[in-house]
Amino acid sequence: MTKPSDHDGIFADAVRRLDATSLHATIDPEALEKLKHPKAILQVSIPVRMDDGSLRIFQGCRVRHDDTRGPTKGGLRFHPDVSIDEVKALAFWMTFKCAVVGIPYGGAKGGVVVNPKELSRLEVERLSRGFMAQMADFVGPETDIPAPDVYTNAMIMGWMMDEYSKIVRRHSPSVITGKPIPLGGSLGRDDATGRGAYYCIKELERLEGWKPKEVRVAVQGFGNAGQHVASLLHADGYRVVAVSDSQGGIYREEGFDVPSLIHAKNTARRLQAVYCRDALCEAVDADVITNEQLLELDVEILIPAALESQITIENAERVRAPIVVEVANGPTTSAADAVLNDKGVLVVPDILANAGGVTVSYFEWTQNRQGFYWKESEVHDRLREIMSREFNAVYDLKNAKQIDMRTAAYVHALSRLASAIEAQGTKSYYEGVG
Ligand code: NAD
Repeated sequence: MTKPSDHDGIFADAVRRLDATSLHATIDPEALEKLKHPKAILQVSIPVRMDDGSLRIFQGCRVRHDDTRGPTKGGLRFHPDVSIDEVKALAFWMTFKCAVVGIPYGGAKGGVVVNPKELSRLEVERLSRGFMAQMADFVGPETDIPAPDVYTNAMIMGWMMDEYSKIVRRHSPSVITGKPIPLGGSLGRDDATGRGAYYCIKELERLEGWKPKEVRVAVQGFGNAGQHVASLLHADGYRVVAVSDSQGGIYREEGFDVPSLIHAKNTARRLQAVYCRDALCEAVDADVITNEQLLELDVEILIPAALESQITIENAERVRAPIVVEVANGPTTSAADAVLNDKGVLVVPDILANAGGVTVSYFEWTQNRQGFYWKESEVHDRLREIMSREFNAVYDLKNAKQIDMRTAAYVHALSRLASAIEAQGTKSYYEGVG
């Protein structure tokens, strides 16, 4: 990648966490070592003809972390800060995420260094098709299956699927997930990440005996994942008192009408404190806050749903929420994690809290391969079953081992990963003692 990144060291941070977790798990040292190294990395330059006739070259990459448990799976992001280090960390987390929820995939991730907001729609299409043309030998329905992530969406997935199908000369919907429904997308994929986090919160509600209207929620990042989790919680009576996007946030003690915020954000393309009836919106009282202030609000649940490294050693001490549900990938650095644990904050970690997205991507891939499509209620039921089961397995492990929830999630994932890697043989097997 040409651009320097704010995220240098993020992969090393992820590996440090793995080392710390392994102290609580039974894992062969060879299996542990294997998980510290991505299997393959492809870096590409993508030439794109711009609308004004000029040629621009964009940098992109794809990292496949580990495929012991199945083909690799993970999102593609279009963002100006994408770096190899960040993508390696995101691919690593995908391996653990798929293992936490027990779906038969390894982890991968990809990205392009670009601010898509500065490109026309046609330029984004050319970039998306150009990226897939370069990746066609690296990805595939049985090798590596991309999906949407930050600043990529269903239409981009549809263009990429079309490009891949042209290259391999056969209709190949299962090469990518998160596609538009008419192109083989799954019902229920759009809100799956937010919904998976919501099912985790519903399990906490049951365990803690919460009354939703007494629970205040702040959501950082009001995109796909943030909007859906906020919307589902609001529908259940939770008080969503603050939301934010890349431009900053809004706060209202009484709570917001989340569908109105979503309507305004998606029509005016900016966050506004409004109440809408039909298409008529009127302003409501709210304070303008920064993203930093949002993270430090006096709320019961804090949901980071934007980017990595938002809760750091600088601000962790000031986080007041007793529960953090990580809808974003890697929003808490490991140094900040230690501070939150010392404060007794319960962190539902990213590899569990946002696993709903990859789980329904798995359902989409399964449906594409079967050529048989499920009802939305079937997708929701199967997602809820998996999220509730795995949430409770992690929660029980946390209590049994007296460890934090993140460590428990990693231990749970490691047991599945270790048994798969060890089943291929380790030193003790070849020495005849295993
Ligand atoms: P998105 O592009 O739809 O939304 C991202 C949101 O974050 C936007 O509202 C943007 O304005 C906001 N944002 C960007 N920079 C910010 C900043 N510095 N502070 C506050 N807000 C900021 O992306 P998404 O798909 O909702 O993904 C959000 C997070 O969830 C990412 O970490 C992603 O990896 C993770 N995630 C997404 C999925 C999925 O299926 N979409 C699955 C798993 C994890």
